[in-house]
Amino acid sequence: MEKTDPVLGEQVHAHLLAVGLETPMVYDKVKVKNDKKIKAVAKHFAAIMEELGLDLTDDSLMDTPNRVAKMYTREIFYGLDYDNFPKCTKIENKMGENNSFVLERNINVQSNCEHHFVVIDGKATVAYIPKKTILGLSKLNRIVQFFSKRPQVQERLTEQIAEAISFITQSPDVAVYIEGVHYCVKSRGIQDVTSSTMTLATRGAFAEVNSELRREFLNSARMK
Ligand SMILES: [Zn+2]
Repeated sequence: MEKTDPVLGEQVHAHLLAVGLETPMVYDKVKVKNDKKIKAVAKHFAAIMEELGLDLTDDSLMDTPNRVAKMYTREIFYGLDYDNFPKCTKIENKMGENNSFVLERNINVQSNCEHHFVVIDGKATVAYIPKKTILGLSKLNRIVQFFSKRPQVQERLTEQIAEAISFITQSPDVAVYIEGVHYCVKSRGIQDVTSSTMTLATRGAFAEVNSELRREFLNSARMK
């Protein structure tokens, strides 16, 4: 497990609540200890499997409820709990404040849609104009990863990442672009296997329509 910063996590949580961008969650429930949560989720998942008519005495299916419960709490939904928020090491910006941006591209996004609990598979590009501090590069990836690891809608995911980066770096100028394939569109429903969804969240200078900066960001984000 990477280094975490629960204190910073709680600040980000409070900030997202204040700006109305937090995931709808009952935080007392999120804070229930993992062991207890795994037991409860496993019990309910076993009931779903039984209702579907699966035989839970079969040795291939027997451990599935527990396996799914562990996967939910420790892996694909660990980003609900701000105790797991990544430590965000910052260094002083010695280059001085100008309009040059830091951009990280092709960040892997593995999330799950909150409407169907199936995979969203995508890539993110993130940029910000540093003010007094610069964030370690891998931290941008970690922030993207944290917010991906909860049931999501892509629009809110994009906004949460932008807002968190702006809050942590104290930079008003942030842009986040995500292109994602939603398996609830690909494997069920309309069964469109080729479509993808693009979302953009911008703040400050990046939000100025027709600006050179915004164009530059979008060009970098869309380049494959
Ligand atoms: Zn869906």
